[in-house]
Amino acid sequence: MLTLNHEVKSMCNVPEIFGTLVFNDAIMRAKLPKEIYRSLKKTREDGSPLDIHVANSVANAMKNWALEHGATHYTHWFQPMTGITAEKHDSFITPLDDSKVIMEFSGKELIKGEPDASSFPSGGLRATFEARGYTAWDPTSNAFIKDGSLCIPTAFCSYGGEALDKKTPLLRSMDVIDKQAMRILKLFGNPTGAKHVLTTVGAEQEYFLIDKALYHQRKDLLYTGRTLIGARPPKGQELEDHYFGVIKPRVSAYMKELDQELWKLGILSKTKHNEAAPGQHEMAPLFTTSNVATDHNQLIMEVMKRVAANHNLACLLHEKPFAGVNGSGKHNNWSIATDTGVNLLEPGESPRDNAQFLLFLVAIIKAVDEHQDLLRLSAASAGNDHRLGSYEAPPAIISIFLGDELTDILQCIEDCSIYKAKETSYMEVGVDGLPRFTKDATDRNRTSPFAFTGNKFEFRMLGSSASIACTNFMLNTAIGDVLYEFANELEQAADFKAALKDLVRRTIKNHKRIIFNGNNYSEEWVQEAQKRGLLNLPSVADAAPCYISSQNIALFKKHGVLSEMETRSRYEITLENYFKQIHIEALTMIDMVKRDIIPAVNAYIKDLSQAALAKKQLNMNLNCQLEETLLENLSDLSYGLFQNCKTLEENVETAAKITNVKDAANAYRNAVFSQMEATRSIADTLEGMMGDKYWPYPSYGKLLFSVK
Ligand code: ADP
Ligand code: MG
Repeated sequence: MLTLNHEVKSMCNVPEIFGTLVFNDAIMRAKLPKEIYRSLKKTREDGSPLDIHVANSVANAMKNWALEHGATHYTHWFQPMTGITAEKHDSFITPLDDSKVIMEFSGKELIKGEPDASSFPSGGLRATFEARGYTAWDPTSNAFIKDGSLCIPTAFCSYGGEALDKKTPLLRSMDVIDKQAMRILKLFGNPTGAKHVLTTVGAEQEYFLIDKALYHQRKDLLYTGRTLIGARPPKGQELEDHYFGVIKPRVSAYMKELDQELWKLGILSKTKHNEAAPGQHEMAPLFTTSNVATDHNQLIMEVMKRVAANHNLACLLHEKPFAGVNGSGKHNNWSIATDTGVNLLEPGESPRDNAQFLLFLVAIIKAVDEHQDLLRLSAASAGNDHRLGSYEAPPAIISIFLGDELTDILQCIEDCSIYKAKETSYMEVGVDGLPRFTKDATDRNRTSPFAFTGNKFEFRMLGSSASIACTNFMLNTAIGDVLYEFANELEQAADFKAALKDLVRRTIKNHKRIIFNGNNYSEEWVQEAQKRGLLNLPSVADAAPCYISSQNIALFKKHGVLSEMETRSRYEITLENYFKQIHIEALTMIDMVKRDIIPAVNAYIKDLSQAALAKKQLNMNLNCQLEETLLENLSDLSYGLFQNCKTLEENVETAAKITNVKDAANAYRNAVFSQMEATRSIADTLEGMMGDKYWPYPSYGKLLFSVK
């Protein structure tokens, strides 16, 4: 029935359902008075302030539209530092008299909400400021309907205006790029008459699907999102038979419903396929502006989980749900484009376009080299620590992949030498056409953290559960800062062409160490990167302190992306999230060992002992070596497990007392996390020795292979 139902549903008319739950531009045009629509459009495009009379009219139209779609409530939808979204629902009802209500929604309610901020992470900001916070409407991201509520995308700030969320710095960083890239475009004559420069993002999302009933039998998955214990099954991903493999019927039904739900929300869900690990899949939407892409990615993760429940599945978004097979990441495809539709990372046909492309390209190279720490930091989470550098995701060392052709071209520009690949010509910035390089040639390397893929960069370091906001605001700010410097230099130049040539050449020379086209998973690269002086920050505890280096505080402050206080609060929150996560994992493991595993081993020991006794009582001189050997091993191992678990408890207790966040993070990594690894290894050995019916949890084999 389930399949049939979904097959019928899958015959839906996509253009008809697309965006039906979104208060989008077409709806606004249809529902708003002309003047109001024009005024709102101006706000959406230029950020010009919205007056209350316009807001009232928009609110009323939004409410009427929402009521037509069965909504009863509205909510300011925001993205606090927890990394997930938050919402508090208010109904539209207003009493008319003691027997009647009407449905109302005012401009004031649309523009500003005042949720209590005191229960969200604030990283010290709470101590300094009032507990009250407010949410402010982001008119650049469309309102939508979810579960009977009109959701209004908002930014979340403290009462004093300090950002308490992921969206605010992203919006601010988009302004930085806009302003600085426009200065650069003007230097090149701005031939398309662009008024704004936008950053565009397409985020590919990996996930696992497992059976819901099995999911509920595992405390570790329930409490922490990953398995803390689990012996490897006989088969993992070694046959590479899952990647791009045929999609199983239950998964296919899930993916169809997922697509439909996302399309209704105006999300351009485009690609779906199986990933490398058994039970692992991916979806990718088409790219859009980075703040909308960020909102959409949050929604995608939420809808993925919700739809899974309809299929008796659980969707795992953790970076490393299972040891021994690949974990899940999120690829952040990034580019910059004009509001006239020109992708500024598309190498052009004319010399002028090429010079402009090269300038943006070297700006990115410089920004990534100078701010390796920030990019690394933007992908730092307890979950992602399991993947980076483990031969399944890029190492914790930032580098750029350009492909051989583009690298050669840059080399020739630097050397003023002849580029020989296709045509024999000197590479003169702004004079010659760039030789056309094939897009394919730039996308063969899948191991690089930051790869040029023909007309965009792909940041491959992010973890699957992360918000993409942090990566994008850091990328935008770092690149915006270099564009600012470049614009300052070039605007002053007496001879633009000479200055440009010199700037491009100098930038290549000074920052080419960040370019690496080889295998980023290899040990040689780790050595080579060290020789080049590149940063290698293996864990969150190593990366987080970079937040508050004087350069980074100054960078964010200079461009109005984060005040010093806001930067410091993010540093605290990053570390806090990290060790709290490990704390919960450790407590869960202790619970599993003491309350489930040890009793299970003892039950098996008891049955084995009784079997041996029974044999002996038969007085047949039966061989009891099997029982005796097993009993001996099980007793030793379970005692070892018990001892390790005790040490884990002590280490947690010690770490939990540390008040300084940096020291706490180090203690959790060095004493708690490592002790969890030791404990796990004994538990996994025990699992491999125990009769299936005794082990208290569904095995890896069942979890990974049972969805048909
Ligand atoms: P692959 O798996 O080879 O990396 P996909 O097609 O799965 O490629 O994903 C590529 C992603 O890059 C898509 O989300 C796509 O929309 C996005 N993308 C393409 N062009 C741009 C661009 N100019 N800016 C941002 N993202 C882009
Ligand atoms: Mg990709």
